Amino acid sequence: MRAAAYGAVSGDSGLVPLTVARRAPKPDDVEIAIEFCGLCHSDVHATRGEWGGQAYPLVPGHEIVGTVSRTGSNVTGFAVGDRVGVGCMVDSCRECESCLDGLEQYCENGMTGTYGAKDRRNGDAITQGGYSSSIVVDRRYVLRVPESLDPAAVAPLLCAGVTTFSPLRHFDVEEGDVVGVVGLGGLGHMAVKLAKAMGAKVVVFTTSESKVAAALELGADEVVLSRDEAAMAAANRTIDLIIDTVAAPHDLNPLFRTLRVDGALFQLGLPSEAMPPVNPGALIRRRIAYAGSLIGGIAETQEMLDFCAEHGVVADIEMVAADQLNEAYDRMVAGDVKYRFVLDTSTLQAADQEADA
Ligand code: NAP
Ligand code: ZN
Ligand code: ZN
Repeated sequence: MRAAAYGAVSGDSGLVPLTVARRAPKPDDVEIAIEFCGLCHSDVHATRGEWGGQAYPLVPGHEIVGTVSRTGSNVTGFAVGDRVGVGCMVDSCRECESCLDGLEQYCENGMTGTYGAKDRRNGDAITQGGYSSSIVVDRRYVLRVPESLDPAAVAPLLCAGVTTFSPLRHFDVEEGDVVGVVGLGGLGHMAVKLAKAMGAKVVVFTTSESKVAAALELGADEVVLSRDEAAMAAANRTIDLIIDTVAAPHDLNPLFRTLRVDGALFQLGLPSEAMPPVNPGALIRRRIAYAGSLIGGIAETQEMLDFCAEHGVVADIEMVAADQLNEAYDRMVAGDVKYRFVLDTSTLQAADQEADA
């Protein structure tokens, strides 16, 4: 079967109409008619080849929401018509310690990313993501989307949501904690909403003066302009946990100075170029932990979706049609989105037919 899609054919092609092969559902597979797919900054890094070693053609997209259109004979948990989601991975080895611990994202044998990865159980074909009209995924990597939430605004939860939820939970954020969120984009705005829902006080660090009012509207208690040295100095020793979502290289040392003793900074952004060096003294003098974190496991992703249903949390989105994807990427890189673009996949077919004509 071939599905309508949008993807890159090289690092500088931009996104163009394509079709992708989708396997017929095997016994454990769920076939999903995709309705919405969020645009993550990782999609930009990957399609533009910024991380190197990229195989093309590449259909990005790992914030997928749709409905089940077919199920394999072993599938019991999902029925045709159910609203489901797929995040950043579609498989892992299922046998290593990480997989058995529900930490499939840290699979010792490498998780299978939703796009651009070798599909270990399907002849090493390269996986293709959610800027597409359908996808076929093993039931173990399919999430249940709570009915009470707007499905388009749920899509970004599948990456931006769980990627920020996981370190917040790992740090056991609770009422009274002060969480700093650095970078108010797709991940950052989810970090604000989730940390607030966990009862934390939230301080946003942004480079964009234009986002100050919007950050307060989102629920942030305070906003600090991170390029304003006086404002940064005033924030000295005020924060317990920093969630850093910045997509470009930046100096972390001024941020470490805002942390209290035993504070931690989780870096989530993965810039393609090197970061300025970390000053060990800044860490040592306050027993600060500098950590990274990758998305979240499957069970944790479901937990996050259920948490969002309980607290009424979804992403703030701007819908785009397939032929607006390239413009949306440029706007994302320029920081001009509040806060996540979501592709309406019903526009793929039309774009596809136009391309054929
Ligand atoms: P995004 O929507 O583009 O947001 C990134 C934010 O970073 C921007 O809104 C901006 O915030 C800030 N920023 C951008 N350029 C900057 C610069 N030159 N200097 C300082 N600040 C800058 O991106 P996203 O989708 O949230 O993704 C963020 C990063 O996380 C990307 O690198 C992505 O690949 C990575 N990511 C990692 C994981 C993981 O598992 N660890 C998962 C998903 C994504 P302000 O305007 O507020 O300063
Ligand atoms: Zn992502
Ligand atoms: Zn594994």
